[in-house]
Amino acid sequence: CGIIGILGNHEVSPLLVEGLKRLEYRGYDSAGIATIHDGRLDRRRAVGKLINLSDHLVHNPLPGKSGIGHTRWATHGGVTVPNAHPHKAGPVAVVHNGIIENFRELRNELTAAGYVFESETDTETVALSLQMQIDRGLSPVQAAQSVLPRLRGAFALCCLFDGEPDLMIAARHGPPLAIGHGDGEMYVGSDAIALAPLTNQITYLEDGDWAVVRRSGAEIFGPDNAPIQRQKMVVNIDA
Ligand code: GLU
Repeated sequence: CGIIGILGNHEVSPLLVEGLKRLEYRGYDSAGIATIHDGRLDRRRAVGKLINLSDHLVHNPLPGKSGIGHTRWATHGGVTVPNAHPHKAGPVAVVHNGIIENFRELRNELTAAGYVFESETDTETVALSLQMQIDRGLSPVQAAQSVLPRLRGAFALCCLFDGEPDLMIAARHGPPLAIGHGDGEMYVGSDAIALAPLTNQITYLEDGDWAVVRRSGAEIFGPDNAPIQRQKMVVNIDA
């Protein structure tokens, strides 16, 4: 239901949780974050209020300067830790807001190809589809180019990859998604409210856009994978 992503220069876990707090107003039933530390993705998830995730992080800290976070409002699969986001498949972690309508078809293909699901969510089909393309030898960006056009439904996505601490892939097909510009840092959020403590410089993705986000900036593409210019604006919200 709520998405945050940070390519930062400081420990990112507390910033992700703070961003999720600012998205609480949307409602949620579970939450989680993933970061990259020493090149490897790791994650922490908890059912219920954000305090449960914070407590989990006190006992099991998650270091790293690049990370994604999510508050979930379950649509597919019960309110359980395995169904909470981020979903991880091999070298890929995904947070997702909305519904992948053709998840059954994708799930059948992935299962037939030998991929094993750990959750009941529609979201995990995105993570496993990306993993399948990376297993075939594609880069994360090429994998996104091949998988995103196959997804049907209303969704916002943010993805992080093993060994790629300077890369997030974000996509918007329905629910809003904002890219935030920092000083040598870049952010992704469901809205400018989530990003307000980090930046007031915002580029809103338009429907069908997807973006390659790095600390140096964001490249935005249309559904046909052609580069597109989107305006950067100043959005001031009381942080
Ligand atoms: N459909 C996804 C799920 O049930 C995402 C729901 C959301 O927007 O939080 O896990």
